Amino acid sequence: MASKNLKIAFIGTGIMGAPIAGHIMDAGYELTVYNRTKEKAADLIERGAAWADSVAEAAKDADVVFTMVGFPTDVEEVYLAGEGLLASAKDGAYLIDLTTSAPELARDIAGAAEVCGKHAFDCPVTGGESGAIAGTLTAILGATERDIEPVREVLETFTSKICCFGGAGKGQAAKLSNQVALASAMVGMADALSFAQQNDLDVEQVREMICSGTGNSGAMQQLAPKAIDGDYKPGFLVEHFLKDLGLALTVAEEKELALPGADTAFTLYDMLDAIGGGRMGTQAITLLYQEEAEAVAAGLDWSLYAAQHENDDECDCGCGHDHGHDHGEDHECCCGGHGHGEDHECCGGHGHGESHECCGGHGHGEGHECHCGHHHEG
Ligand code: NAP
Repeated sequence: MASKNLKIAFIGTGIMGAPIAGHIMDAGYELTVYNRTKEKAADLIERGAAWADSVAEAAKDADVVFTMVGFPTDVEEVYLAGEGLLASAKDGAYLIDLTTSAPELARDIAGAAEVCGKHAFDCPVTGGESGAIAGTLTAILGATERDIEPVREVLETFTSKICCFGGAGKGQAAKLSNQVALASAMVGMADALSFAQQNDLDVEQVREMICSGTGNSGAMQQLAPKAIDGDYKPGFLVEHFLKDLGLALTVAEEKELALPGADTAFTLYDMLDAIGGGRMGTQAITLLYQEEAEAVAAGLDWSLYAAQHENDDECDCGCGHDHGHDHGEDHECCCGGHGHGEDHECCGGHGHGESHECCGGHGHGEGHECHCGHHHEG
């Protein structure tokens, strides 16, 4: 039985949204849920949440609407479409977007919400699936402490830390800073495990040793064990990480800022996505360093990469992401067109030597077109 006054709607009950919504309900709030695929809300409905058939129906009586969808295009649809939240939520409602999305879109939504008498905050989170399940996420708000006072108690049902960064869009910008840090941590984790393996070391023993010292990271602590066990199920989807890195690199480019670590990670995840790993967990980056047979056993297909890049010779792009990043004109492009503008065919290949086509795949089998720089034959 609901015991709190605010009525809550939750849109997007996927990996993160479902456990977050569960905590809100457990705290005694009346909850209505909507998700594109109804089955993913089944547990919540069984536990007492009301189901709505659309965004508008979910929002119509809610005091607070949370959204936790996948991509900025999903956020746009949910907020700005004709039957979206700006049109359908009641006056004075709080609209809180937990999705990792574009800072500019967050500013647009907050501005439009203000015009129609609603409050919209960007509030991406960090802490991963385990943090969502434990209710210990960090909320990263594009709002002030004062702005969030009316909804703080609800936010506290699924967080252990709330960080307010001020105006609209700043939560997303801060979250992208986090993703930039994570990018290099993931590549560092994968590099280190591969290095240990190639030196005939006990990889788990090396991992534990690293976790006890200054090479430690969340990637090494939480994701390396899954990679070592061959568990590539998604906690955090590769396609979502690519989206985040693309957003960060786009913002960086606008500010004429180079992010070599994020750039390298983008290249590797773009490759993983191109060979069928987009719906795997981000720890699957380690498969790029393994023998081809292991990647195939995990469900990847390197021939997809070759197929996507067979016209690379003709590419005259010169870039990395969304446009003209740092490569010389003689750079052979090698991208999967992920997150790039339409007139753009390239990507990746950042920081490679001139005679070298791309990166990542250490130790591939002979039938495989090499994408890396290191030590293979064939
Ligand atoms: P997910 O499992 O794909 O969840 C997204 C959910 O949103 C899906 O269930 C999807 O429906 C639903 N959805 C998308 N568009 C919709 C729409 N227009 N209307 C209604 N529902 C819609 O992904 P996730 O891992 O929970 O991640 C969600 C967001 O949080 C992403 O932006 C991600 O980058 C970010 N994030 C993820 C993590 C993590 O560790 N997983 C951590 C922090 C932040 P379907 O079921 O039909 O696909």
